Amino acid sequence: MAVKTENQLTSVVAVNKEGFVEYSAKCFVDATGDADVAALSGVTFHVGASEADIAEGCAAELGQMHAFGTMFRVRGVDFHRLFTWLKAAPHRFVEHQFGVMSIENVTESYEHGEMCVFRVLIDLPDGRTGPVQVYNLPAKDEAILLGPYCGCTGSGLDTRDLSRGQETLQAGARRLMALLSSCPGFESARITYVPDVGVRETRHIRGMYVLTGMDVLKSADFPDSIACGGHPVDIHPLPPDVEHMPMHHWRFHIPYRIMVPEAVQGLLVTGRCVSATRMASGSLRPTAQCMAMGEAAGVAAAICAREGITPSAVDGASLSRIMISKGAIV
Ligand SMILES: Cc1cc2nc3c(=O)[nH]c(=O)nc-3n(C[C@H](O)[C@H](O)[C@H](O)COP(=O)(O)OP(=O)(O)OC[C@H]3O[C@@H](n4cnc5c(N)ncnc54)[C@H](O)[C@@H]3O)c2cc1C
Repeated sequence: MAVKTENQLTSVVAVNKEGFVEYSAKCFVDATGDADVAALSGVTFHVGASEADIAEGCAAELGQMHAFGTMFRVRGVDFHRLFTWLKAAPHRFVEHQFGVMSIENVTESYEHGEMCVFRVLIDLPDGRTGPVQVYNLPAKDEAILLGPYCGCTGSGLDTRDLSRGQETLQAGARRLMALLSSCPGFESARITYVPDVGVRETRHIRGMYVLTGMDVLKSADFPDSIACGGHPVDIHPLPPDVEHMPMHHWRFHIPYRIMVPEAVQGLLVTGRCVSATRMASGSLRPTAQCMAMGEAAGVAAAICAREGITPSAVDGASLSRIMISKGAIV
């Protein structure tokens, strides 16, 4: 529950092992991913695709949301054996659309202990093939996998959908591992961890600024830029000219105002639910951008608490300079 005095958020009531606990603060940062605190506080938002997103060519229907997914962890991968097989059967190696690493690059990075991502094409029981996305981890036999059976539909705001999604994805991970047991390098691999159902999209808040696809594509400059993003737009469908833009194109500025809700004071919202169109969100929602926004939201909240001001009164240009002094690329 959110407690407000007029339009100022003053406290949040949470439930934990002590029961109902009320937390008061001069400024809150909502980092729930789904803008839960913002929604409880009366911030304006829409869920999934809006009419503007359909007009931008980034959604087929109103409210459309990304599928749930799971990236599960395995151990016991024999990467040398996998790489040898992929070199002998190059059609099985698929460059990751955002990674553009060749099998030689991947092998070299692996030997240097660096993380890389690539896709392995496997045969499916129905006669088709499907790509398994492989992320190697610092432990030499460990990987994170995302592939066939690792996705399903549902709303991240519906607890029944979330429970169903969890069951489906747990089973999907086991099904994919069973298939991989005949793939060179994965014969002895076993699942070590399947995380909670992964939600890619729910609410998008209405902030003091709405970042658009054009802002991202044209790398629009903002006086209150708190970070630069570098991830291509990761949504489906995508207008073809956007999908085929070369990797080096992707550098865009993230303005502070997309984290400041229009209607409620004393609150900042960070992460995948910031104020942006679906196309812009496709570039904002990957992890690095969310981390950068989260850091800036924390700094802005500290300024609010220290100076007794609300987030909308924070000078964006000064915040940008503070972020630069902390090493941010704005
Ligand atoms: C299947 C899948 C694959 C992905 N692959 C990639 C990828 O390859 N590369 C990439 O960069 N990004 C990837 N992403 C996207 C990226 O992981 C997310 O968009 C990003 O983590 C969102 O960050 P966030 O901080 O907004 O939300 P989250 O990371 O979801 O963090 C929100 C946190 O708040 C917690 N929380 C929520 N409500 C409460 C509450 N009431 N009390 C306490 N805690 C609460 C949640 O448990 C969660 O830990 C992927 C996402 C998914 C689902």
